[in-house]
Amino acid sequence: MDTKVVSIEEDQIDDKAKEYLKEAGEIIKKGGLVAFPTETVYGLGGDALNPESSKKIYAAKGRPSDNPLIVHIADMEHLGKIVKSIPAEAYKLAEKYWPGPLTMIMDKADCVPYETTGGLDTVAVRMPSNRIAAEFIRQSGGYIAAPSANISGRPSPTEAKYCIEDLDGKVQMIIDGGKVGIGLESTIIDLTVSPPMILRPGYITRENLQAIVEEVRVDKTILDSNSKEAPKAPGMKYRHYAPKGNLKIVEGKQEEVISYINEKITELEPGSEKTGVIATTESASFYKADVVKIAGNRDDEDEIARNLFSILREFDDENVSVIYSEAFNDTGVGQAIMNRLLKAAGHQVIDLGR
Ligand code: AMP
Ligand code: MG
Repeated sequence: MDTKVVSIEEDQIDDKAKEYLKEAGEIIKKGGLVAFPTETVYGLGGDALNPESSKKIYAAKGRPSDNPLIVHIADMEHLGKIVKSIPAEAYKLAEKYWPGPLTMIMDKADCVPYETTGGLDTVAVRMPSNRIAAEFIRQSGGYIAAPSANISGRPSPTEAKYCIEDLDGKVQMIIDGGKVGIGLESTIIDLTVSPPMILRPGYITRENLQAIVEEVRVDKTILDSNSKEAPKAPGMKYRHYAPKGNLKIVEGKQEEVISYINEKITELEPGSEKTGVIATTESASFYKADVVKIAGNRDDEDEIARNLFSILREFDDENVSVIYSEAFNDTGVGQAIMNRLLKAAGHQVIDLGR
């Protein structure tokens, strides 16, 4: 299959761009696949109400079919069609956070095929704020099933070049809308339980959600490395975001983390491994690794979130085989950052104590 790559600027959706989006919509209506930008990460879209499209998404990603897809809508009027009923919390949360990086789980309506929900009676719904995404969804008939546009297990794509890397020849079109703004997947909240529960941390934090609905719990498997329980979002049980190299997280006081990592790197037989470190602006110059990546200023969680997935991919491109990462604060957006980093590291953490 030939993959057509088109470029659209989000703040300049002109006639040419509209033509591309119409073409993308036609592809979806015919049961094809299109990768497109959202504010979180790039999505791999198909018609959410067409079971054949969902099957194609799983095949293109190499994703296990028990891992449900998120349905993306562009207008609130469309929500009622795909859920059994709209809970009161959904209206309140939508008013504050839609369009935006929040996914809500509700009971599904009959028109949503089990192929889209991974066999579940619930459906995950999100309204992205990216204007290219919104227009693409409208042109496609209103309901786009989309997981992240990466091969299963690889870091989610934050730029179109990574979609091309993973999906060239597997989708009809890739819409290049530049680098995404957030860089981590949406927060997922389950509204079918009381009180509502966060199944995946994201840019919108528990504190943000609790300001709107009184009590919100967090699935305890999210940050716990030792939990024997299965996570409630089926996708969270899979190894994810993993670079090809062996990634370990080192936690502790900054100076001790730096000396530990440098010691480990020095112990390696010279030339045997290519080494890498995920550092911050404050610490980067102290590391002796072959490749040192700066995630951002230690206190700038938004910047760290935006850079994390591309850093993991760059290590692959540069064939780095041994990677150490500093740990980041696990409050606010930091919780989502640490959740992704822990999964990328297969939960390998070296704790040097505080
Ligand atoms: P991705 O599309 O790659 O961002 O992954 C979507 C995530 O949403 C996966 O972790 C899924 O398991 C989760 N998810 C989607 N639909 C549901 C649902 N109905 N119930 C629980 N988790 C869901
Ligand atoms: Mg994903």
